[in-house]
Amino acid sequence: AGCSVCFRRNLSSSPSRLQSCMSAWVIDQYGTNGVLRYTEEVTIPTINSASEVMIKVYAASLNPLDVSMRGGYGAKLMKLRRDPFSVMSADNEFPLILGRDVSGVVVDCGSEVTHFTPGDEVWAAVPPWKQGSLAEFVTLTEYEVSHKPKLLSHIEAASIPYVANTALSALVNAGGLCRDNASNKRVLITGGSGGVGTFSIQLLKAWGAHVTVTCSQNAEGLVRGLGADEVVDYTAGDIAEKLETMDKFDVVLDGVGGDTEEYAMGLLKPWSGAKYVTLVTPLLLNTDSMGLLDGTLHAGFTLHSKAIQNILSNGVFYRWGFYAPDGPALDEVSRLVDAGKILPVVEAQFPFTQVPQAFQKLEQGHARGKTVVRVT
Ligand code: NDP
Repeated sequence: AGCSVCFRRNLSSSPSRLQSCMSAWVIDQYGTNGVLRYTEEVTIPTINSASEVMIKVYAASLNPLDVSMRGGYGAKLMKLRRDPFSVMSADNEFPLILGRDVSGVVVDCGSEVTHFTPGDEVWAAVPPWKQGSLAEFVTLTEYEVSHKPKLLSHIEAASIPYVANTALSALVNAGGLCRDNASNKRVLITGGSGGVGTFSIQLLKAWGAHVTVTCSQNAEGLVRGLGADEVVDYTAGDIAEKLETMDKFDVVLDGVGGDTEEYAMGLLKPWSGAKYVTLVTPLLLNTDSMGLLDGTLHAGFTLHSKAIQNILSNGVFYRWGFYAPDGPALDEVSRLVDAGKILPVVEAQFPFTQVPQAFQKLEQGHARGKTVVRVT
């Protein structure tokens, strides 16, 4: 405690000098929904470095990653990230708090924090190697946090950060798109009705791209309402055949994986710098099953061999897209939201007492936007 105090700029704004524990949903082992446990005895994550921001959580949202992490997905790589020198005990990740999105209010800042002060309304996507947002408080570095859009409630705001950071990282870093070059580009989004898809459609439309989406027939109204120019129902007939009749694409953002990869390469404009970016990668599955070194090498080999094969045979780039924490990117999203160009797509809301039910909802699949948890 002595150490954390010296980094703090504003002790009086902290939750309470006497309060040392908070409520949270935790897991103490990996497994099915039964491992989720509500407790009021989790130590509050106080400021530990000068660049940290402590946030009181008003709303959180769930992503498919939360369900996977509950079952142990990515555990080896996350553990390495949390404890690179293996100085802690074997199961040091427990009790683990899930939840990747947060919308809330800053209650404390490290002494070097320049962009935030206590009382600021903020949003952020919590990196998976950090304690999550299904809790009263979460502590992040300043770089991961952004001022929340003024037009949105906390519930609405919590539906955006993780899918926004993922979409921006995939489309910009892997897909080579940005606000200034997207206007004449044709983009195909597979899995357009889920969290990443509903955000990506709106972002790309705000940037002026032409957007084609694959989804189930009953999601067509949703994705068209968000701006999709063309919609292809993947449940009716041969999807590859339908897509092949269309003009070729500059970028494919694949949120489905599996078979999609096999036909998507032929949908891209050859020898024009066109890119296929998939969010469904084997990296964490490989490190879980083969160990960190072998798993990473295996994933690296898979990526490079597919990249070489696709550039040689199809003249297109093959890439993997990943979530990356990025507060400044959320600042840009915040501006688009406040300009009315991006809307939150909240499909379901659950109170904090019903976090297991929220996980069940997510596990059923067929998302139409996001599932949000009201924390405060
Ligand atoms: P969601 O669960 O929110 O959405 C998935 C959507 O895809 C649902 O609307 C589903 O609806 C639809 N869908 C399912 N099968 C198909 C299909 N064959 N063709 C078209 N649509 C389909 O997931 P997210 O949007 O949050 O994430 C998408 C994927 O990206 C997930 O696999 C996720 O794990 C991954 N991801 C990876 C990240 C990374 O860092 N690499 C980060 C974030 C996400 P329906 O079944 O009714 O059609």
